[in-house]
Amino acid sequence: MEQGKKINPLDVALKQVEIAAEHLHLDPGICETIKQPQRELIVHFPVKMDDGSIKVFTGYRVQHNMTRGPGKGGIRYHPEVNLDEVKALAMWMTWKASVVNIPFGGAKGGVQCNPKEMSAKELENMTRRFTWEIAIMIGPERDIPAPDVYTNPQVMAWIMDTYSILKGYSVPGVVTGKPLELGGSLGRYEATGKGVFITAQEAAAHLKLPLKGAKVVVQGCGNVGGIAAQYFERAGAKMIAISDSQGGIYNKKGLNISSLLECKTKYYCLITPGTKQGDSISNEELLELDCDILIPSALENQITQKNARKIKAKIIAEGANGPTNTEADKILHDRGIFMVPDILANAGGVTVSYFEWVQNLQELLWSEEEISDRLTRILKKSFAEVLNLSRKEKVDMRTAALMLGIGRVAEATRLRGIYP
Ligand code: NAD
Repeated sequence: MEQGKKINPLDVALKQVEIAAEHLHLDPGICETIKQPQRELIVHFPVKMDDGSIKVFTGYRVQHNMTRGPGKGGIRYHPEVNLDEVKALAMWMTWKASVVNIPFGGAKGGVQCNPKEMSAKELENMTRRFTWEIAIMIGPERDIPAPDVYTNPQVMAWIMDTYSILKGYSVPGVVTGKPLELGGSLGRYEATGKGVFITAQEAAAHLKLPLKGAKVVVQGCGNVGGIAAQYFERAGAKMIAISDSQGGIYNKKGLNISSLLECKTKYYCLITPGTKQGDSISNEELLELDCDILIPSALENQITQKNARKIKAKIIAEGANGPTNTEADKILHDRGIFMVPDILANAGGVTVSYFEWVQNLQELLWSEEEISDRLTRILKKSFAEVLNLSRKEKVDMRTAALMLGIGRVAEATRLRGIYP
């Protein structure tokens, strides 16, 4: 999917801070402070594989900034996970929690592995040993992991169990995105995709673009993209393309998303001869399709200076973290494409994770309706705040979101003071 020289997501994240800091007239010392992660841990650990061999894996946990509250951020299992990527993702978590104004800082973790080639037992062994290795950093008052790419509620259950065994009592608040049976929250599984839909809906209303019949393209059909696509379908949008890591499927007359996702669950791929609903399309071609709303929901660096001029969408709502680089941002803005940036568009996940954590700490159970209402209220308010700031400061939506998020962290840093 990536063209040319590999883009380092940390460079993108740092450039974004510099742009926002200039608009905010941030003190250079504060700016330098918030650019660096507070803590970063690299672990190398052995795992017993099914064939009896021992394999050594490398994992990371980075706590970017915990000025406004405990660290919060997912754990990714992917062959390309590396320290810079985790640092960038942790930084985006800090700004994201701040944009929606919930009392969390930002963190992220990951293990370099290929989960598609591992058995459930090997994944469990790796997860438990990784949890043990990072247990010195995580905890309900310190840093709370959640699912990210190729991790899911089952992985969260293993983390919770391992951490609880270490402590000697059940600690449900150590992770969010858990199964409901272990203190997970109603609405958490859908939260990120639903949030992408809510914020894109706000953008469409702002542009007076009716969602009914709007042509929507989704890259990535996992927890974020798959759920978002279903919300758009239910709202009457025409889903013309969707993809996974193997490529996509396209039909300008519209796809039946529910049946495609069923096929994906059953056969681990979107396109099988029996369920052919449209034509195959590459992940690169999919981004350039003629559509109204584009939802990149896979990985970083999908929209760059190489393809930004070819994007035809009117709205981009970033389900993924960091799918657009800084050069592409400028091109898209100049071309009048409305951006709902990642730290706003996909903040539904961290918001309901916060609800899950609050319920765990207070031993409460909120209804699905209560969670949905609170989530919708927070996201609509945050969207309006970012839009108003972008108009007031005459900046694009990403810069406005970063100004809001970074501005709150900078002010919290100033208020707490530099110790000693
Ligand atoms: P997931 O593992 O559930 O799904 C990932 C999807 O991306 C899969 O459909 C996979 O096939 C597809 N994919 C993987 N590599 C791809 C590639 N090279 N090209 C196209 N598609 C590819 O992961 P997820 O939780 O949906 O996360 C997706 C993105 O959303 C990530 O950027 C993640 O950081 C971000 N995000 C996730 C959450 C959450 O709550 N899960 C919250 C905020 C942001």
